[in-house]
Amino acid sequence: SIYGDYIKSVIRTVPDWPQSGINFRDITPLLQNSSAFRKLIDSFVHRYQDMELDAIAAIDARGFIIGAPVAYELGCSFVPVRKKGKLPFRTISETYTLEYGKSEVELHSDAFQQGDRILIMDDLIATGGTMLAAARLITRSGGQVVETATIIDLPEIGGSRKIREAGFGVFAVCS
Ligand code: 5GP
Repeated sequence: SIYGDYIKSVIRTVPDWPQSGINFRDITPLLQNSSAFRKLIDSFVHRYQDMELDAIAAIDARGFIIGAPVAYELGCSFVPVRKKGKLPFRTISETYTLEYGKSEVELHSDAFQQGDRILIMDDLIATGGTMLAAARLITRSGGQVVETATIIDLPEIGGSRKIREAGFGVFAVCS
């Protein structure tokens, strides 16, 4: 995207967090910078404005920060994909493997209509496990995954390749 390099320049890398050997990409300086935040949201709006989306499914919790303004701007609905145990109504869930252990994402069973065109959003793709679990969940629920979108892709980890190999498109503002 045209603002990719600029957006990347306002993301901070915190070494050894949350544990030794991890370089955590911290998006809070980007969110603090109102002009950078606007350019970020505009990058997504520009890409998706003519794609006739019905809903944005955003992943708990940093996906919500970008998913809500993009849904507002595009005039489509907002659907939260949440960590296990947070949604109060009837849910469907998808379990996926982490480096150590397992995780689970959930969706309300009435979150959208069959055949709805859905964009999935999250802040970052590392192993791709979270995004892929969300894409499977949406597909199982009868939604059509138009694409998956993220601020940051870490391509060396291979997550975006894995998501593409599973048949879903990936758009990243910076990588
Ligand atoms: P994955 O499932 O692709 O391995 O990890 C991506 C998920 O973990 C996303 O939901 C993302 O919010 C979170 N995550 C993992 N590493 C980072 C990081 O370095 N920075 C940020 N902001 N989120 C991360």
